[in-house]
Amino acid sequence: MATTADNGVQSLNSGSAIEDRQSLVSSVQSQIDVLTDLSKRLQTLRQFPGGLLRSEHASGANQVLQVPPSSTLKGTFSKSIEDLRTLHVAAMEERVQEALRAAVESERRDGTEIEDPQGQESQERRRSPSPESPKPFLVFQHKVASPFPPLVGTLPLTLQDLPTYIREFNATHAKKMLLHIYLASGHESRKVSVPVVLRFLIPDVLRMFITLGHEEGVDGTASETSALMVESLTVFGSREKASASRNRAPLHSPYFQKPPHSQSEFIVFQKLSQWIVRALQSSPRVHVQGFMDMLVAYESLFLEKCSLCQRFLSAEGYLPPVARVRREDGAWEPQHATCVQN
Ligand SMILES: [Zn+2]
Repeated sequence: MATTADNGVQSLNSGSAIEDRQSLVSSVQSQIDVLTDLSKRLQTLRQFPGGLLRSEHASGANQVLQVPPSSTLKGTFSKSIEDLRTLHVAAMEERVQEALRAAVESERRDGTEIEDPQGQESQERRRSPSPESPKPFLVFQHKVASPFPPLVGTLPLTLQDLPTYIREFNATHAKKMLLHIYLASGHESRKVSVPVVLRFLIPDVLRMFITLGHEEGVDGTASETSALMVESLTVFGSREKASASRNRAPLHSPYFQKPPHSQSEFIVFQKLSQWIVRALQSSPRVHVQGFMDMLVAYESLFLEKCSLCQRFLSAEGYLPPVARVRREDGAWEPQHATCVQN
């Protein structure tokens, strides 16, 4: 029968096809091995410039009596140069070149159909700088589309409602945190006008100055009934003082603590300010209520570890998690700014 004969031929064909494929697979596998090995050697060598600056050489410089630092440095340098030379020779080998050609050909043929689950990650890793170099500014809007919670069932806060809001806020967070309107020294009138500066204190943790402005109307003007928008913020240590004066000024005196236009001397509060200001810049309109929701989460600034790397101090800069990233359920996760960006 014709059908049976056809089937016989087909199975014969598929038998040799399987053998062909198996030998193809093993040759592709060996090509992958060759390229992986080359990539590893290249990665090792790329650590070299940063490695020169690392502590092993710095501490080597202190042990001057035993080993002159210049010779240690020179030794490392010549070894790396030698490694680079042998890597170049290895890369020019025929089997490596053949594997590279096969990889290019393979990518050209079906690059669009293969989805590498780690592709994006490895691309990001390739772009990311070595730990020694300063971090470039990363636009993190991609990571956090809207860092602040939306207003649900509440109207945006207005200047008129601000005193009531502050009273309610302080009642809710009694003894844990304190919010009030900050009046600069020499401010005679008790009347509050925009821009309003709020002073937010979490005892033993931090103190923030929050500047509120008015949302502009359609015609570019603002009225008393316009919504208040968070414009900027600076963060200080809860007991950080502006002057070195030993005389304890009254708590409410603006001279007792840093004024809102200055900057904290502590890097953790500088980084915290930067993180929040960037979040503000990434959102066109930030209402007071949603913003305060995030600030409350900073009560754990010195208590909770990063939800991404599970460590308290960041690998870079040794800072606690200064970022608060909102989860779907509305909870705030402490994260290192460096972990969020990586
Ligand atoms: Zn982390």
